[in-house]
Amino acid sequence: MKLNIEGLLVYFPYDYIYPEQYSYMLELKRTLDAKGHGVLEMPSGTGKTISLLSLILAYQKAYPLEITKLIYCSRTVPEIEKVVEELRKLIEFHCKETGEANNFLALALSSRKNLCIHPEVSALRIGKEVDGKCHSLTASYIRAQRLSDPSLPSCRFYEGFDAIGRQVPLPPGVYNLDDLKEFGQKKGWCPYFLARQAILHANIVVYSYHYLLDPKIADLVSKELTKKAVVVFDEAHNIDNVCIDSMSVNITRRTLDRCTSNVETLQTTIQRIKETDAAKLKEEYRRLVEGLKEVLQGGHFMGKVSGT
Ligand code: SF4
Repeated sequence: MKLNIEGLLVYFPYDYIYPEQYSYMLELKRTLDAKGHGVLEMPSGTGKTISLLSLILAYQKAYPLEITKLIYCSRTVPEIEKVVEELRKLIEFHCKETGEANNFLALALSSRKNLCIHPEVSALRIGKEVDGKCHSLTASYIRAQRLSDPSLPSCRFYEGFDAIGRQVPLPPGVYNLDDLKEFGQKKGWCPYFLARQAILHANIVVYSYHYLLDPKIADLVSKELTKKAVVVFDEAHNIDNVCIDSMSVNITRRTLDRCTSNVETLQTTIQRIKETDAAKLKEEYRRLVEGLKEVLQGGHFMGKVSGT
């Protein structure tokens, strides 16, 4: 159905709309008009995701210079996938109703663990291990070393992406994580690095809170995203927990034990250096005094000695 929300034409891919959805869109439109921030609440299961996407997509189409991007932050991978499927439905409906070809690029971004297609690396399954192994194959210093030692292992998907994929924009469409992996397999390009690059020119990006809120990740992934973006935090009551989580470190008994042992090793090493240095200094002093004695006995010390 088509809706008129205070003068904005909104395509809504269902035949029925709840009154709550209508007023949600109205408030959202007013927030965007005011270029402000909004906190909107709606009971779960009443279709807030599609209401939100329909309104923002319509707004983007109507004011392409004011809003160049929608950044939709969600919490978990299944939630991210759900948003992408709603988007797919909405964009298909929009194209069908308007007769326009889709020129929108919408995609999900997730960690290497969920996007890697390297057979051995993706088999590791644990996020930190996948990240670490990928890094050991793709870090710039490793690739520089490989120039002199071609036997060092590499990832052909990263090399393919770096050689060609970097220059070729991802074609318009809606891509969930499997779509990105399929595209990466077909082209021989790493889907993770491809998606990270594609979010810079995508119209809609769906990713986890961490990509925007965790300074360690946000600096790498989201730094160059446009300021003309609408940012949505789904289930925003989770924000404080995500922030606490991002800035926290877990210290285990084992880490503490290893730190203590490292400090002890450091202390012993410093003590040994000090003792060696003190012995060396003493020896040099002794040799200097011996040397002076010899000079004095031989009458060669011309200054003060010859004047006495
Ligand atoms: S570059 Fe991509 S495909 Fe290769 S190991 Fe890393 S994440 Fe996996």
